Amino acid sequence: MRGLLTKGVGMTSDRTRGRLIDRLLAEGIDDEAVLGAIEQVPRHYFVDESIAHLAYEDRALPIGKRQTISQPFVVALMTKAVMQTPDVSKVLEIGTGCGYQAAVLANVVDSVYSVERIESLSLAARSRMRKLGLENVRIRFGDGFEGWEEHAPYDAVIVTAATSTIPEALKSQVRENGRIVVPIGRGGFQRLVCLDHMDGGWKETYMESVTFVPLLPGTTQ
Ligand code: SAH
Repeated sequence: MRGLLTKGVGMTSDRTRGRLIDRLLAEGIDDEAVLGAIEQVPRHYFVDESIAHLAYEDRALPIGKRQTISQPFVVALMTKAVMQTPDVSKVLEIGTGCGYQAAVLANVVDSVYSVERIESLSLAARSRMRKLGLENVRIRFGDGFEGWEEHAPYDAVIVTAATSTIPEALKSQVRENGRIVVPIGRGGFQRLVCLDHMDGGWKETYMESVTFVPLLPGTTQ
């Protein structure tokens, strides 16, 4: 990813971006591959120009349609959790949003499939991937409750919206020894959870408290 489009100036410059990496390190993210992927992706390119100067702060930001771009710290945690899946190469994301998490994942795995229920966000994310030359990300407009059967099974599924129950379709699209990373809960009570598909069952590991918008059924413009 090179050129003027992604390089940024002033509040989006390399130096500002370097400060985000320092901040994540200070918060305990020490995985080099994860930090490298976050450093590669121009986060200011995933938000509106009017808030681009906030893009390298460690916080969620609005992206329109009452949705958000995830906080870099949470993106780092989830990316790390996905990378801990044995032999991970193909990942399904539910909740593309602006496409930031998908772009970070695209730097550490072979292929990323991502589903978004809001058509305008899905189209914008697809055009960003094209402009950034991320050919290993495929984006679909649809209801993530159904997963993306066509390319299943996946090594890992990452859900970037909160749910109280894991959609059955997602469980059925993860291979044995694969993993689902998902925020479970509602409102202010959400925990990031890893579900490992082993011995025909699911082993749960609870991680940090997080705040995500809800996983909603159906599609909309
Ligand atoms: N992954 C994003 C954050 C997404 S915010 C990032 O990198 O910043 C959560 C997204 O999930 C929203 O865009 C929302 O529209 C989407 N979403 C909610 N329910 C969904 C569903 N059933 N299927 C697909 N996307 C869904």
